[in-house]
Amino acid sequence: MKPLTIVHLFPELLNLYGDGGNVIALRRRCEWRGIPVDVREVGMDDAMDFAHADIVFIGGGADREQLIVKDAMMGRKAELRSYVADGGVLLAVCGGYQFLGHHYTMGDTVVEGLGIVDMETVRGEGRLIGNAAIATDISDVPVVGFENHGGRTNLGAGVQPFGRTLGSTHGNNGSDGGEGVRQGNLIGTYLHGPLLPKNPHVTDHLIARALERRGDACELAPLDDAVELAANRIMAQRIGVA
Ligand code: GLN
Repeated sequence: MKPLTIVHLFPELLNLYGDGGNVIALRRRCEWRGIPVDVREVGMDDAMDFAHADIVFIGGGADREQLIVKDAMMGRKAELRSYVADGGVLLAVCGGYQFLGHHYTMGDTVVEGLGIVDMETVRGEGRLIGNAAIATDISDVPVVGFENHGGRTNLGAGVQPFGRTLGSTHGNNGSDGGEGVRQGNLIGTYLHGPLLPKNPHVTDHLIARALERRGDACELAPLDDAVELAANRIMAQRIGVA
């Protein structure tokens, strides 16, 4: 089988709270099933060809890193938009997620976004911090993680969140009960952790969509998820939702 190509965008700057662990989880869950994987780390000055990408990952970054990376990100705007429009699988976390919208406004500074999702983010008073859990269509157990963001994200009319907040989870804006976004084969979320090791259903969802898109059989062999699900359950218990 042709290797599954995972493109990790700007790992030197967008890699908060171990977000790079998401790439490790994707790689391992493929390799445990005998699916070869090719991870390409794409730095700000690297040329990038999305034609062979199967999964693109963009991690989180503090406001400072977002300002450093924004021009390089916008330099890829057209390519990223057409990759997603073509059904490309994309996972974006926190700072990376905020880039998917029209803008991220921090006080007087307005950072242009990729405009892939109809959404706006504005930095608010104080930060939304804590362990987090959401209910999604993808996983029959809560998707768990950790959130820490100053930005409040509002999705446009008809845009679906990734999940619904559980317990004390703040989610996109602390008020509407939505967390992240799910649009076609794209998932954006505020959840760090990193997200995927403790949420194997989400990892497998991304892998299956990527295989399906390129016409490979996407029925994934089951794995022993005892450790992953124990970690998930402990987080869910900590937030009082399990
Ligand atoms: N800089 C963004 C915010 O604070 C994202 C932070 C993050 O990636 N955790 O809203």
